[in-house]
Amino acid sequence: MSAPRFRPALDAIRAFQPTGRVTPPGELVRLLAANESPYPPPGAVVRAIHEQALGINRYPDNGCGALLAEISARLGVPADSVAAGCGSVGATQMLLAAVAEPGVEIVYADPSFEAYRILTRLSGATPVEVPLRDGGHDLPAMAAAITDRTRLVFVCNPNNPTGTVVAGLEDFVEQVPPDCLVVLDEAYIEYARTGDGLALARGRRNVLVLRTFSKAYGLAGLRVGFVAGHPETIAAIRTAYLPFSVNSIAQAAAIAALRSADELMARVSATIAERDRVSAELVAQGWPVTPSEANFVWLPLGDRAADLAVRCAAAGVVVRAFPGAGVRITIGTPDDNDAFLKVAGPARRPDGFA
Ligand SMILES: *Cc1c(COP(=O)(O)O)cnc(C)c1O
Repeated sequence: MSAPRFRPALDAIRAFQPTGRVTPPGELVRLLAANESPYPPPGAVVRAIHEQALGINRYPDNGCGALLAEISARLGVPADSVAAGCGSVGATQMLLAAVAEPGVEIVYADPSFEAYRILTRLSGATPVEVPLRDGGHDLPAMAAAITDRTRLVFVCNPNNPTGTVVAGLEDFVEQVPPDCLVVLDEAYIEYARTGDGLALARGRRNVLVLRTFSKAYGLAGLRVGFVAGHPETIAAIRTAYLPFSVNSIAQAAAIAALRSADELMARVSATIAERDRVSAELVAQGWPVTPSEANFVWLPLGDRAADLAVRCAAAGVVVRAFPGAGVRITIGTPDDNDAFLKVAGPARRPDGFA
């Protein structure tokens, strides 16, 4: 008679979830919707994956020791200042599991990375969403939104989906009470011309930096990310780690990717050049384009967003629409980008509104 009971938070999450797209087999589809690298992994990464595959009868290193040592050497931060997660989304869930509970508030921008909303809801805490201003974070409004119930503030820099970078971060961090975490999500930092947050995190117990291997390092399918910050803060957060959730192949591949950084960063440079080319062509064709410092471009089209995404999908170009706000197009190979530009064509009015 009565059905299993679920948490009401699930209803709030379901309401926001984008519907997946099923791709008919054999169709040429250009996937420009998830901000992935368009390039297959370097040979050294593939070899590390093969080698590690022979040992998958064993559990992974729960402490991710070799990976953290490699990250530590590359970033110049002590290994006890870093914790790995199953993607940076896994690291984010670990952070929230460490601080969030009913009655707690979590502050972030809107629109920003959707995982903040989903994971905050899932944690039982209350999301406090602060609208962007001119496509970028409104730091004064975010500072004003902090109450004594706020335990964590996300700052996505560069922001997904708008590609904007944050100015005045140091002043903001100084304004946040020391008992509230500031999490700088730097998933796209390799594509940005801005300074990174590690310098801000150094010496501050409440500032953390989130990074991922899913974008510039090209390992989206393997799920590895990490959070860096003060050792005592990191130690507390690690307590909430889902045991063994960073698998052994992911750990080995991430190490190999770090060692292939030169090759991968050359691809990042190529993507940046393509981003600037695509942006300039879109502007020339009359589209409104938000200047991007990430591996995607954002067209703030408001009510016309769905229209462009539907036209793209019909031509086999999958982009990401945020209905009522805009369209986010991932930078792919030059060929992918040309396909998108061709579908977009000239905007019908100078502001992009037909
Ligand atoms: C893509 C993305 C990530 C990466 O998530 P993973 O779980 O590491 O794949 C994190 N933050 C933002 C803002 C992103 O857009």
